[in-house]
Amino acid sequence: MTHGIAYLDGWYAEEHDGAQPFRWMAAAASCRIGGPSGAGPAWLRVTARHTAPSAPALSVSVNGRSVGSHTLSPGTSPYLFPIDGGGPAEGNLDVTLAVDRTFRAPGDDRDLGVMIYALDVLVPDPADAEGWYEWERGDYFPWRWMGIRATVAIPPGRGRFASFAACPQPGVSGQILSVLADSAPVADLRLLDGWHLYDLTLPAASQSGSAAGPVLTLVLDRLAPAASHPSDPRDLGVRVGEIERHDDARRHARAQTFYDWAIENVVPGRADRSSASRRAFGGADRGHDDYLPEDAEGWHEWELQDEIPFRWMGLEARARVPADIARRHRFCTIPVFSEVVDASQVVTIHGGGLPVVELGLAHCWNFCTFAVPPVDGDQLTLVLRVNRLLPASAHPEDARTLGVRVGPFRFHDWDERGRDGRLMRENAELNQREMNAGATVLASFPTKLGIDLHARCNISPACVYCPWDEAKQAEGDDAGAVIDDSTLEGYGALFDAALSFVNCSFGEPLLHPRLDEVLGLFDRRDKLVELSTNGQAFTPATVGALAGRRVALYVSLDSGTGETYSHLRNDRWTDVLTGLIALSDARRLAHGQPRLNMVFMPMRANVSDLESYFRLCRMIEADALVLRPLLPPGRPGVVVERGGYRFDYDRELLGRDELDAVFRRSEELSRTYGVAVASQFDFGLPRSERTVRT
Ligand code: SF4
Repeated sequence: MTHGIAYLDGWYAEEHDGAQPFRWMAAAASCRIGGPSGAGPAWLRVTARHTAPSAPALSVSVNGRSVGSHTLSPGTSPYLFPIDGGGPAEGNLDVTLAVDRTFRAPGDDRDLGVMIYALDVLVPDPADAEGWYEWERGDYFPWRWMGIRATVAIPPGRGRFASFAACPQPGVSGQILSVLADSAPVADLRLLDGWHLYDLTLPAASQSGSAAGPVLTLVLDRLAPAASHPSDPRDLGVRVGEIERHDDARRHARAQTFYDWAIENVVPGRADRSSASRRAFGGADRGHDDYLPEDAEGWHEWELQDEIPFRWMGLEARARVPADIARRHRFCTIPVFSEVVDASQVVTIHGGGLPVVELGLAHCWNFCTFAVPPVDGDQLTLVLRVNRLLPASAHPEDARTLGVRVGPFRFHDWDERGRDGRLMRENAELNQREMNAGATVLASFPTKLGIDLHARCNISPACVYCPWDEAKQAEGDDAGAVIDDSTLEGYGALFDAALSFVNCSFGEPLLHPRLDEVLGLFDRRDKLVELSTNGQAFTPATVGALAGRRVALYVSLDSGTGETYSHLRNDRWTDVLTGLIALSDARRLAHGQPRLNMVFMPMRANVSDLESYFRLCRMIEADALVLRPLLPPGRPGVVVERGGYRFDYDRELLGRDELDAVFRRSEELSRTYGVAVASQFDFGLPRSERTVRT
């Protein structure tokens, strides 16, 4: 709850850190907060940050009475202080803050205590019977903490199902939430880590419309341990979003299917994971073992933002592979990326003390395949050396010593991979030379191919801006062509030489009936893949097919809310959220693969959704939010009525100033939510004409 604040003594002028305003306080500061009144439990929340050399303790008194002290942690955090009994009769709180030390920053002669971002008072929501703390906003779902037990009256009206989002405190696993409707047991839910959607069938007696609506009682088996929220002394159970009643059996079944899938595949410590689960996350059932060396020397940290997770190495790095992995397969392929365009880097690999491979590197991912040398003892030591480092001038903002990027070691039995890797590398080198020379007739094959895996789409009628009919007419007799793994291999050298494949077409590739086999082919042949999807085809099978694969996935939603989504596509927003959350779970167990890019085309219908889209991206741990243009001249004269909204293509296109405002806002939100932004507004423009900064 936001209350008026009068800043009295001990404050410096308001500043801004680029994302939020704050004020430095000196050793002590006082203020008056208006608003709360009456008796009953309440909390003063102080959102603070310190930059002092050692952590200060912040003590607070309210209306002359000490309400506690916290030693501040690094970063910006909320600290709660109990003010049971509410404010004085007139409803004001006289608050005094004090720190046990101050410091001076270079070039600043002020005595600095801590940075105060917000002061607010939390009181229980009187609209609900019991057990809830105040609503909080800032995450994708608005939510409030419940303690060990809470009740809520759900809306009256028809509807067989009740749905809500919940998120346990990080690090607290395995809580059981029992749900009762009008005292009748409904479900015992094992809460999953992070935000998940839960969808319950209400007892028959509660399903029909009644004036009051059923009362749900939520009971936890245990609270989050106090140690998991040291700056907040309240009894905290779990964060719970709004409870919605609905009558969509398909939505209910989908949520239930993903819940069962998550319990089977995602819950940590399940020793009895099924083989399907192991396959889903890139395990041995795919015919190979990926090994991400942790016990290693000469490497920088793992980075997960590309199709292939990688670690930078300098001139030499070594890794020890457990013997049971090394002995299981005959070959090993190590992906190595060279940033050097003149192919002058050479990598040599020794295994078990013997030289196993020496390769000149093209400016791309190079797949270095060798026969696994004999393994003595309990591990195989692999030593990688590169002949030259990148010059420091090539990475001016990165002070590390950088040689090449190296991906997970893949142990397998496919002996043709050595030939494949050589062909791709030699073709990429030749292609680069021909491009540099300005050749117009090429002896090399393209390194990147566009494909159209599936010509049908599951959104019908089509998205409001989609020229579906025209596209299918243009495809003519080819609209129904089947492209699968055997078609692709039938391309011969064109397929063999290509490094990557891009599917961005009129159709939904995740509907491909042999998706797992097609992605398996790309995987086996060390091809990278870009897939654009509308997000409505996530199922346990498609999520399983994608997990652990070297795929850059582009999910086009263009909406941060169900309402906007219904204006552009249809009413399946909750299904999309359910699938994306499952994908996020799977990626966490599969080294961040596939890479997840969330596409947003700014237009008049969705500009107000930008912040909620960032919140969504943060919740599902997307790698990037991608801004993509709604193409001018678009579809002049096209007007579509959808979901109560009139989509007029000409009117939806934003002007240059409006787009610039979107880009500036995206930069701010990127910092606030920690979500990287990429822009595709410059596609095809010469570098000198690129104006969009994100
Ligand atoms: S998802 Fe893509 S292909 Fe399908 S209707 Fe929408 S824009 Fe067209």
